Amino acid sequence: MSVVNNMAALDPVAPQLSWSDTPFASLRSVRTDARARLLAGYIRSAIDFLSGPDRDKLTACAVPRCVRYFVKVHGRQEFCRPSCGNWAQAARFYHRHRADSGR
Ligand SMILES: [Zn+2]
Repeated sequence: MSVVNNMAALDPVAPQLSWSDTPFASLRSVRTDARARLLAGYIRSAIDFLSGPDRDKLTACAVPRCVRYFVKVHGRQEFCRPSCGNWAQAARFYHRHRADSGR
């Protein structure tokens, strides 16, 4: 866990508030190294996600050969993308048809 936290600390940032028509928050970086800023930004986003309320919606795709995870947008969602849903539907049809033919 310390590796993740150290990577997030590669780019210390300060919150900034802008106010034109509506308030807008952003983070000001003090680093000029684009690679460190990008890496730290990704890690901060991962930390925000894993410590936030959407973590409970993180689900493994139900297709056995698929290695993807996704965030459920509704309760019955089982697949990471439509092509995995199509694959599962075709597999169910194949097994049902094969069982009906007596093989
Ligand atoms: Zn999938």
